Amino acid sequence: MIPHSFDYMRPQTLNDALKEIENLTPQTEVAILAGGQSLLSALKQRRINPNLIVDLGAISDLSTTREVSDGLEVGAMVRQVEFVGHRFVSAHAPIFQDVAAAAGDPMIRRNGTLVGAFCEVDPRGDWVAAGLVHDAVLEISSLSETRREPLESFAGKPKESRLKSNELVTKCILNAAPENSISAYRKCKHNAVGWSIAGVAVVLELDKERKCRAIKLAVAGATTFPQRLRALELELQGVDLSDEDNLDQLIRPHLAALEFFGDSYASAGYREKRLAIQIRRTLAELSKS
Ligand SMILES: Cc1cc2nc3c(=O)[nH]c(=O)nc-3n(C[C@H](O)[C@H](O)[C@H](O)COP(=O)(O)OP(=O)(O)OC[C@H]3O[C@@H](n4cnc5c(N)ncnc54)[C@H](O)[C@@H]3O)c2cc1C
Repeated sequence: MIPHSFDYMRPQTLNDALKEIENLTPQTEVAILAGGQSLLSALKQRRINPNLIVDLGAISDLSTTREVSDGLEVGAMVRQVEFVGHRFVSAHAPIFQDVAAAAGDPMIRRNGTLVGAFCEVDPRGDWVAAGLVHDAVLEISSLSETRREPLESFAGKPKESRLKSNELVTKCILNAAPENSISAYRKCKHNAVGWSIAGVAVVLELDKERKCRAIKLAVAGATTFPQRLRALELELQGVDLSDEDNLDQLIRPHLAALEFFGDSYASAGYREKRLAIQIRRTLAELSKS
């Protein structure tokens, strides 16, 4: 389908971009364009019909990464492939290499941005799950204010209330995984399109007996939005993660409290069952690594 007509702006500076969206009339629906991998499909399918598109592609300040104390700042126009190639990722956030091997295809990762994936918060968002276990924070600016919000609270809100019409995300900040932690992103995927139907992101610290000392665990693909399972994280502390029967007993009640979605490929009930298996297997694999 051909999208509805819209005005298109390609500002050269962040300030110009923020000015463009500052004083819109209530009738103006604006969409921010980063790598366009999700946005262009939504336009073509007329799932969204903005009157104005603001393209961030010419703003060079948004294409930078910067190491900060114990973390990495990733600008809103840093492509997924550039991000994954950064030294910080191999040293302190290798889970994103797992995600890159499993999310989309080379063209999507070359064009798509990390921040764009965080802003989209697709329920099947592998990048979002990995961002959650790295305690990602979004920096959000309008002309008058800059604020920071954890990705976790951003992802948990309804789409309409995540950003005001005069705001955009300028960067995200990722924390390094703890020293000596191990991590993995594992997913069961749709065979044809590759999207996750049960994805699990884990950053794990083991004690001397190889029991769980501390864990961050997030899921994608099965529940209505990617999320940390904080109550399960607490319950797993001190547990032998190689005992899969025991893990199964621990995991299932936590999943029963979540909201799952279904589609023509996999029902909500199937996603719930598959997620339990995926979590159990991922934890057992990591505990034996
Ligand atoms: C065929 C296909 C397969 C895919 N498979 C996977 C997969 O397996 N796993 C996975 O995790 N993802 C997958 N994706 C999603 C892909 O990772 C995202 O489309 C991409 O990361 C989004 O980044 P982008 O820069 O292209 O964002 P865009 O498409 O430009 O934007 C996405 C959304 O975020 C908003 N936005 C973007 N940047 C900003 C900003 N700075 N401030 C405010 N709002 C902003 C846009 O307005 C839009 O609503 C797939 C996509 C496609 C098309």
